[in-house]
Amino acid sequence: MSEKLTDIFGIDVFSDAVMIERLPKKIYSALKKTIENGEDLDPNVAEVVANAMKDWAIERGATHYTHWFQPMTGITAEKHDSFISPTSDGKIIMEFSGKELIKGEPDASSFPSGGLRATFEARGYTAWDCTSPAFLREDALGVTLCIPTAFCSYTGEALDMKTPLLRSMEALNKQVLRILKLFGHTDIKHVYPTVGPEQEYFLIDKSKYLKRDDLIFTGRTLFGAMPPKGQELGDHYFGNIKERVASFMKELNIELWKMGVTAKTQHNETAPAQHELAPIFTTANIATDHNQLIMESMKRIANRHNLACLLHEKPFAGVNGSGKHNNWSLVTDTGRNLLDPGKTPHENTQFLLFFTAVIKAVDMHADLLRVSAANPGNDHRLGGHEAPPAIISVYIGTQLEDVLNQIMKNGEAKSCMVGGKINVGVHTIPELYKDASDRNRTSPFAFTGNKFEFRMVGSSMSVGMANTVINTIVADVLSEMADELEQAEDFNLAVHDLIKRTITEHIRVIYNGNGYSQEWIEEAERRGLPNLRSMVDAIPALVTEKAVKLFEKHNVFSKTELMSRRDVLFDSYAKTLNIEAKTMISMAGSQFIPAVVKYTKILADSINSVKEAVPEADISVQKELLIKTSGLLSEAQSALQKLRDLIKEAEGIADGEKKARFFYEKVKPAMEALRTPIDTLELIVDRELWPVPTYGELLFEI
Ligand code: ADP
Ligand code: MG
Repeated sequence: MSEKLTDIFGIDVFSDAVMIERLPKKIYSALKKTIENGEDLDPNVAEVVANAMKDWAIERGATHYTHWFQPMTGITAEKHDSFISPTSDGKIIMEFSGKELIKGEPDASSFPSGGLRATFEARGYTAWDCTSPAFLREDALGVTLCIPTAFCSYTGEALDMKTPLLRSMEALNKQVLRILKLFGHTDIKHVYPTVGPEQEYFLIDKSKYLKRDDLIFTGRTLFGAMPPKGQELGDHYFGNIKERVASFMKELNIELWKMGVTAKTQHNETAPAQHELAPIFTTANIATDHNQLIMESMKRIANRHNLACLLHEKPFAGVNGSGKHNNWSLVTDTGRNLLDPGKTPHENTQFLLFFTAVIKAVDMHADLLRVSAANPGNDHRLGGHEAPPAIISVYIGTQLEDVLNQIMKNGEAKSCMVGGKINVGVHTIPELYKDASDRNRTSPFAFTGNKFEFRMVGSSMSVGMANTVINTIVADVLSEMADELEQAEDFNLAVHDLIKRTITEHIRVIYNGNGYSQEWIEEAERRGLPNLRSMVDAIPALVTEKAVKLFEKHNVFSKTELMSRRDVLFDSYAKTLNIEAKTMISMAGSQFIPAVVKYTKILADSINSVKEAVPEADISVQKELLIKTSGLLSEAQSALQKLRDLIKEAEGIADGEKKARFFYEKVKPAMEALRTPIDTLELIVDRELWPVPTYGELLFEI
């Protein structure tokens, strides 16, 4: 098959072009009204679309269809049905009805529901999301028609990441349109949040991966001493891409392009064996689906190259972990980016209003942003010197800071700083014009030219929750602003006053300095900004009175749905740590300690036999090693016993929050205490005896 990008891009997508070609005009325009204006979907329309979708899919080799959904596990789920339908003469025909397109019924009881569904209440429904196009996926199963769907319970509560996201997009659209109307834009009918998530990941050799239980069961290494070389030379970042990785990237791109994912940028990241892929942004819902497709495809295609793709936030201690930069903006159906400041931001009142609205939203709901990026893996990154701190602040750059300062001082801004030329000092190099502001990679929420970049999301997480939160908090601030401005007698006066007031009240959240520094932690505390260090500390933010009011007001989450999410998060924290602790117990107990015991025997035998052979020989080295090794061995053994006891104790805790806290406060330090002596032993014990591949082998030998 041709690999020309223009030939293959989107060929596996039931796209707008395919629909125009295959649907009767009336049906197409009815469906478009649902997709674009959110009008109710007519079942007769669905019937015709289903038929066209089936014909198209079968022509392209599909045998099965699946409702592809995103339960609260943060990853995707699917159940496959073939198109087969038996006929009375013992043959089959290929069938797919409107009903099957619109609604599926997977058993909901085994997905996390945070008490929304008891085990005996099994019914859950998947519902077609026609705003995200169906696509074909080709893998070992053959070709499958994947239909993006929402997932809800028998009683209508959202059991997934997509439903709240769609609701938040509706809420945001409504409030942005109110503001735009005040500015006189009656031509704009719809506004979408746009998202471009940059995905970081690690690739390691599959056969080495399979030799480590910690990687297999938990996605990260639970033991491992630092190799002599880490990332200190900076030679991997943007470095030359290794052959095997390059062939993986090539195949990945082709698969993604076929499914309509706009894979755009790829490069090596900071840590050895770490890479990044960024697509071109699209509407938040599709971007969230596409990010799931990117993660799934990475895992699948890595396998084909005898590689393992690690999406965990911190697969290796001592080198950088992985995150997901969630670029977010607001774009109108007329193609205008509402966060584009233009050349003269100080005169762009509309931009300044949206811009300050986002700043206010972030300040008021920093706790919600923090929890939207919380998972057990991300706790190892946030606040380390590689990822933004757990404190939320906004970076706006020198140019806009200057504009806002002028507004605060004088009520208006009269000028703005410009970038100017860069002099490289070589005549043959073209003259460069620089941006008006530099970048700041330490900021969790940075304005980068015409979009905000939320940098806290973990690499393995869905971006669904993060965008649901951003959309809702911005919608909320805009709704208050619209309430005020709609009442104003003089709009111009009122809007300037509002911008000035907003920025004055929320300036505390703006920070352009080094977010990794200790001074910032102290400064942030003085400013009263929350610092929710761990996932366990962050989770309660979901159910504060403020949060419930906010999400209910905009019909994004009901209180019950929020409580269920809180419970799911506490539960997943406790379960993840329990699996990690049990994996450590098993690796230490059945791999490391026996290996060390063997080594001590070798040392002891050597002492005895050398002494016997040459009584006056110097055996101080063996003796010293034996004493050191035995000491660490007993340290490891008692740490192991302590961890076993704690896991037992945890089993008895029924309350979800208490259990998660117990794991955070008691089990986590005990895991560290076991890791420390084992990592030290790794550097002492004979390499031949060490039972698992080392960091050096995992990170550099590929
Ligand atoms: P940067 O280098 O500033 O991070 P890039 O152009 O590399 O910018 O973009 C990074 C990500 O941001 C890409 O996924 C890109 O598509 C996305 N992006 C760019 N513009 C927007 C926008 N208006 N809305 C959402 N995402 C955007
Ligand atoms: Mg970026």
